[in-house]
Amino acid sequence: MSEVLVLVDHVDGAIRKPTAELLTVARRLGEPSAVFIGRTDHSAGAVAAVRKYGAAKVYLVDDSEIRDYLVAPKAEVLQQLAVKVSPAAILVTSSFEGKEIAGRLAVKLGSGLITDAVDVQEGPVTTQSVFAGNYTVRAKVTKGTPIIAVKPNSSAPEESDGAGAVEEFRATISESAKSARILASEPRQATGRPDLAEAAIVVAGGRGTGGDFTPVEKLADALGAAVGASRAAVDSGWISHAFQIGQTGKTVSPRLYIAGGISGAIQHRAGMQTSKAIVAVNTDADAPIFELADLGVVGDLRVVFPKVVELLAGTAG
Ligand code: FAD
Repeated sequence: MSEVLVLVDHVDGAIRKPTAELLTVARRLGEPSAVFIGRTDHSAGAVAAVRKYGAAKVYLVDDSEIRDYLVAPKAEVLQQLAVKVSPAAILVTSSFEGKEIAGRLAVKLGSGLITDAVDVQEGPVTTQSVFAGNYTVRAKVTKGTPIIAVKPNSSAPEESDGAGAVEEFRATISESAKSARILASEPRQATGRPDLAEAAIVVAGGRGTGGDFTPVEKLADALGAAVGASRAAVDSGWISHAFQIGQTGKTVSPRLYIAGGISGAIQHRAGMQTSKAIVAVNTDADAPIFELADLGVVGDLRVVFPKVVELLAGTAG
């Protein structure tokens, strides 16, 4: 069976959930090989984690030479590994970084690339949701090694014991790949909430919050969810752009998306319409978000959200 390379997305060796999803998908296409680029002293936990999701092999790439650079060296690592093992496909997370790596890799390998896949089946044949969800496209790479960037939360990770045979891999990194250096990197202020792009539940607020995100944040915390926002809320300066969902913000695909005070403009939908279940709370019964919602509540989010928090806490009268 051919190998399917999966680029491991991790923070100091702790793998992110989308990597478990990619490994699950990879098992449909061939034999998953995880590619861990990071510090060798961080690799033990990552190796154990990827084995749990079926990695038959783990390529360990010590990043001491490339840690201080942006993503270009990672594309070179994957290129050289792909030349060595001729994989059936290469899977990466469809994040900002993942897509940049995938794009560079596709050019280097002369291969076709599909981004923002929401499903990948044998072939590999991908499914994408395009034009703000108005079309579902099935596609297949017809040239070179299929490179596929898969959206977080597109599938549920399934455990399966993998041999996880560890092999060290050394790549030769070109000077041009080192032409953009990281000067400083500061961790995001810890909110204690899950990462927006990966969260299983997202509670988002729009202009209808009137600038007070407290009800949105309280509901998010009651559900263990991430907080998101519409562009109107971001443009008003109520919340930072890092929380924006939509065409010019993040794309999310959670199991549950709760929108409060968001009208449902096409550019907002572009970032959340692949959510598995959508709940909308809006004072306007004709708001377009209700066309998309599985459950709609016509009401004031400042009343509805605190009520839900009370119900969750079992304190509602
Ligand atoms: P509005 O459209 O003003 O809707 C507010 C809603 O809140 C209304 O439906 C109202 O009935 C309801 N409401 C008011 N008070 C309450 C209350 N107390 N309780 C409950 N409901 C209430 N938008 C994005 O979101 N993301 C993007 O990435 C994005 N990219 C864009 C890119 C381009 C090129 C362009 C042109 C636009 C983009 N937009 C984007 C903007 C988009 O077109 C909309 O303007 C924006 O999504 C509207 O945000 P909103 O729904 O919060 O505000």
